[in-house]
Amino acid sequence: MEKQGKIRISSENMMPIIKKWLYSDKDIFLREIVANATDAITKYQKLVTAGEAPASEEPYCVTVTTDKTAGTLTVEDNGIGMTEEEVEKYITQIAFSGAADFAAKYEKAGGEGIIGHFGLGFYSAYMVSANIEIFTKSYLDSAKGVHWQSDGESTYTIGENDRMTRGTKIVMHLFKEEKEFLEERAIRSLLKKYCSFMPYEIYLNPKAELKKDEKNEPVNNPEPLYLKDPKSCTEEEYKKFYRETFADFSDPLFQIHLNMEYPFRLKGILYFPKVKKQVELERGQVKLYCNQVFIADNIKEVIPEFLMLLNGVIDCPDIPLNVSRSFLQNDSQVQKIAKHITKKVADKLTELYRNDRPRYETCWNDLANFIKFGCIKDDSFYDKVKDIVIYKNISGEYRPLVSYFGEEVSEEDAKNGKEAQAAYYVSDEGKQAQYIKMFKEAGLDAILCDTYIDPHFISFIEYKNPTKVRFLRIDAEIDKSLKDEGGRDEELEKIFEETLKEKGIKISSERLKNSSVPAVVNVSEFMRRMSEMNKFYQMGDSPADITLIVNTSSPAVAAVKSASGERRAAAILQIYYLALLAYRQLSPEELNEFTENQTKLIENYLKI
Ligand code: ADP
Repeated sequence: MEKQGKIRISSENMMPIIKKWLYSDKDIFLREIVANATDAITKYQKLVTAGEAPASEEPYCVTVTTDKTAGTLTVEDNGIGMTEEEVEKYITQIAFSGAADFAAKYEKAGGEGIIGHFGLGFYSAYMVSANIEIFTKSYLDSAKGVHWQSDGESTYTIGENDRMTRGTKIVMHLFKEEKEFLEERAIRSLLKKYCSFMPYEIYLNPKAELKKDEKNEPVNNPEPLYLKDPKSCTEEEYKKFYRETFADFSDPLFQIHLNMEYPFRLKGILYFPKVKKQVELERGQVKLYCNQVFIADNIKEVIPEFLMLLNGVIDCPDIPLNVSRSFLQNDSQVQKIAKHITKKVADKLTELYRNDRPRYETCWNDLANFIKFGCIKDDSFYDKVKDIVIYKNISGEYRPLVSYFGEEVSEEDAKNGKEAQAAYYVSDEGKQAQYIKMFKEAGLDAILCDTYIDPHFISFIEYKNPTKVRFLRIDAEIDKSLKDEGGRDEELEKIFEETLKEKGIKISSERLKNSSVPAVVNVSEFMRRMSEMNKFYQMGDSPADITLIVNTSSPAVAAVKSASGERRAAAILQIYYLALLAYRQLSPEELNEFTENQTKLIENYLKI
C-alpha cells in the first residue's frame, strides 16, 4: 500500500524561481544525480571498510539509461540505498529544503550566479522532469524495497516495492520539451563534461548481452592522473591525459603537477600548451573540480586570469561552492589557493630557466605571451619572474631583459636632467634594417620587440622601473656612440629647410660615424607612442613629427652643399626620400614625387 504525503515546504513557489535562474544551466541536473549515486557508493564502501557491511560481489558502478519509448532517463547505482524513513527524511525533507535554502541564497546573491549551483542536488532534476520515481533498497538486511514518486510540486507517494538489490534507481520522466535528454549522444557529452573524473565507473546504455571479447566501456576515467603521486607519473602519461582531457593533439610543452594537502587540499595538472597563433592571446581552459566533480571552466574568481592561457584541471575540495561569485573573490582561502598556484607556476618556470636554459629558450616563443601577460596582470607573478624574462637581440642571442637596465638614477641626478638608461628595441626587423645595420656596425645592441604584447609590456617595465630603464625604438634617437661631437652645421640645415619647407618636418644635422648614409629619419619615442596609441584607440591618425638628421660626414651631403639651384634642390629631395624610405612606406603622392625626381636626376646626370 502506498501512502500519500504533502511536501511541507512551499515548493510551489520555489519551482518557477529555480527554473528561471537555472534555465541556461539546467544540464547540471545530471551531474547532481550521478554525483549522488557515486556518493552512495562511497558511503557503502566506508561501511565495508568499517566492517559494518559485506563487500560487494559485483563491481561498484553507476548506470545511465535512456528510454525513448517511455520518455525516461534513469540513473542507477549499487550504493548504500535508502530505507523508507531515509527517503522521507533525505529526499522529501532535506532535498526539498536544500532547494529552498539554495533559492534563498541565490536571491541574496542578486542572481549573479552561484558557483557550480551546488546544494540544489536531487531537486534540480525537476528542471527537466515532470515526475520522478525512486526505487531503492537499503544495505540493511531488514530493509525492504521502497518506491517514491512525486511531481516535485507539492505531493508525493511512498510505499513498499519489490526491489531486491541494494542501491538506488532514479527514474526521471522528462518533460516533452526536454526530449533532447533522451538522446544518447547528448547524455554522453554531458557525462563527459561533468562526470569525466567521478570515482566509479559510469556506463551509458550498457549492452546486456555481450559478444565474446566484447565489453562495455565506461564513459569516465575514475582514476584521473592528477590524483596520482607526481613521482610515479611518466611523461607519456601526462601527454595522454592532456590529449584526452583537452582534445589537443599537439603535445604540451611541459606541465606542473599540483599536489598539496595542507593548509588546503589542492590537486591538479597545469599544462603549458604550444602557441598556435602569435598574433593574439589564446585562451586556454582551466577546469575546476571539487572531489572529482566538474564545477566550471575558467572561474576567474579562483584562478588568476592570466593562468587561463594554460590548459589544466584543478581539483580543490576546499573551495566553498554554494556561494556567490563575489563572495568567492573576497574569500581568504580562495585567495591563498590562487597565490599558491601562481607561485608554483613561477617556480616551475624559474627552475627551467636555471636548470635547462637551452630548453627554456626553445620554448620561449610559446611562453613569452603568457609570462608577459602574467607580469602585467599580477604583481606577485611579476616579482617572481622578472629576472627570467628574456629577449632576443639583433645578433640573434637571448638575453635577460634586466641586463639592459642601468644603475638607478638618483633623485638628485634626475633633477639635473639625467635620464634612465636607454635600451633600444626593434619592432620590425625588415623595416628597420638600415638602423640595425648602423647599430651593428657601431657595436650597439637592441632587442627585438615584435609581438603585439611588447608595446604594452615595455611600457609596463618602464612604469615598474622608472629610474633604471627607458625604451627607445632604434629610430627614435641617434645614440652617442653613433656620432662624433660638434658635427652640427647650421648653414646646411638652413639649405635643407628651405627646400623641404612644405614637408612639415624638422631638420637637424649630426656627424655620424657611418658616412655612407646621407640622412636618417628620427621620430621621438614619446611622439611615436602617442600616435600609435591614438591609432589603437581609434582617436584619429596623427602622424608623429619627423626629424630629418642630415649627416655632415657624408660625401653626398658635402656635394649638395657645394651645388646650387635646381640640381641642389633635386638632390636634397632625393636624400629626404631615401631617409624616409628607410623609415616607412611612401604614400602614393610621395612615391610619385620620388619617382619624378629620380628620373630628373638621371636625366641631369647623363647630360653631363
Ligand atoms: P545533497 O546531495 O547535496 O546532500 P540532495 O538533494 O542531492 O542533497 O540529496 C539529499 C540526500 O538524499 C543525500 O544527502 C542522500 O542522503 C540522499 N540520496 C540522494 N540520492 C541518493 C542515492 N542515489 N542513494 C542514496 N542516497 C541518496
